[in-house]
Amino acid sequence: CGIVGYIGHRDAYPIIVKGLQRLEYRGYDSAGIALYHDGQIVVSKTKGKVDDLKVKAETSNNIEGSLGLGHTRWATHGVPNDTNSHPHYSNSGDLVIIHNGIIENYESIKKALTSRGYEFKTDTDTEVLVNLIEEVKDKEEVKLGQAVQIALNQVVGAYAIAVFDRNKPDEIVVAKLGSPLAIGIGENEYFVASDASPFIEYTNNAVYLEDEEMAIIRLGKEIKLRKIKDDSIA
Ligand code: GLU
Repeated sequence: CGIVGYIGHRDAYPIIVKGLQRLEYRGYDSAGIALYHDGQIVVSKTKGKVDDLKVKAETSNNIEGSLGLGHTRWATHGVPNDTNSHPHYSNSGDLVIIHNGIIENYESIKKALTSRGYEFKTDTDTEVLVNLIEEVKDKEEVKLGQAVQIALNQVVGAYAIAVFDRNKPDEIVVAKLGSPLAIGIGENEYFVASDASPFIEYTNNAVYLEDEEMAIIRLGKEIKLRKIKDDSIA
């Protein structure tokens, strides 16, 4: 039930793992992390504790990268197991998402996406959302931020999400409705988390998203805040 993200010049892994540990008080049954490095996304995830995730990631995976997303899950759709743990990929393998909350109308969206050729590897509502974002992005030929916005306008539920695209590793898109989401602004680096505790020692400059607000976080740029319902997104 916690999310942590990092984009900048430091190693993302230790920041994210420490951040997830600070969010452990929120309660969870599984944990996971996705790291971008050299054109690849490496995901480590497991049912159990953040300590179990550390063992798994450090013994079997590459933990390099200055862009990453981490998650502690409190399962609502799909049993707690390694597969259903976040982060989740889109079908192309390019988009990665972490999500706290519930997508209430995921079943009808899943049915529609399945009829258009999408396949699902997990039982989560979250995997439905990341594929909806991907379909919108491809069909409408829009940027990730716009695709997230359009997709969220089709969704009923509650969420704090963070998404990135393997082909655009200078950007994280976040959005919130009902679950908390804070952005920490450092010097040429950004942090994303359920509360400020994961980034408190790096920056005092934090922005808390309002409900129905999203942010496009791009390295070297100011954060762009948008209302999810506003159709004038750039
Ligand atoms: N509904 C999502 C799931 O069951 C996210 C749960 C959470 O908030 O951690 O995977």
